[in-house]
Amino acid sequence: FTGKSGSELLTEKLKKFKVKEFQSVPIVVEENVSVYDAICAMFLEDVGTLFVTNDQTLLVGVLSRKDLLRASMGNQDLTSIPVHIIMTRMPNITICKEDDLLLDAAQKLIEKQIDGLPVVKAADDGMEVIGRLTKTNITKALVELGRDEHI
Ligand code: ADP
Repeated sequence: FTGKSGSELLTEKLKKFKVKEFQSVPIVVEENVSVYDAICAMFLEDVGTLFVTNDQTLLVGVLSRKDLLRASMGNQDLTSIPVHIIMTRMPNITICKEDDLLLDAAQKLIEKQIDGLPVVKAADDGMEVIGRLTKTNITKALVELGRDEHI
């Protein structure tokens, strides 16, 4: 018997959670697709963040709901604007890795005031997107902890 209190056990479990245990499938668009098609993808896939890749499937950018809303204000033809014009681009993308602690990823979401992170792995000339970590994934971890499923 360790003599640890319930909250000590909870903290111990929380500090062991890894990104890979909670990440979701990434939804990716190619950098030359139109803003219009990205909006369709966001609705159809029911996500708030899209990751943008180049023709070698390497991460080049991120698109949020507000990025797409902003691009939709005014009278531009959304089918003729490629997403690489409006995305947040590398190297200004905040990323995480599968083996990162969930807590560290959560801290990045708070510090950068963003909704999601691409989970990446190193490739020859950049980074490949292998997952998506969002505030929803963090909420799921919280619920799991509270319901004692990990203890
Ligand atoms: P929204 O804009 O819909 O509220 P976010 O708060 O996630 O969604 O995004 C705010 C801004 O930060 C957007 O311009 C978006 O492109 C950018 N952004 C989102 N995720 C990331 C990320 N992982 N790294 C860098 N910038 C990001």
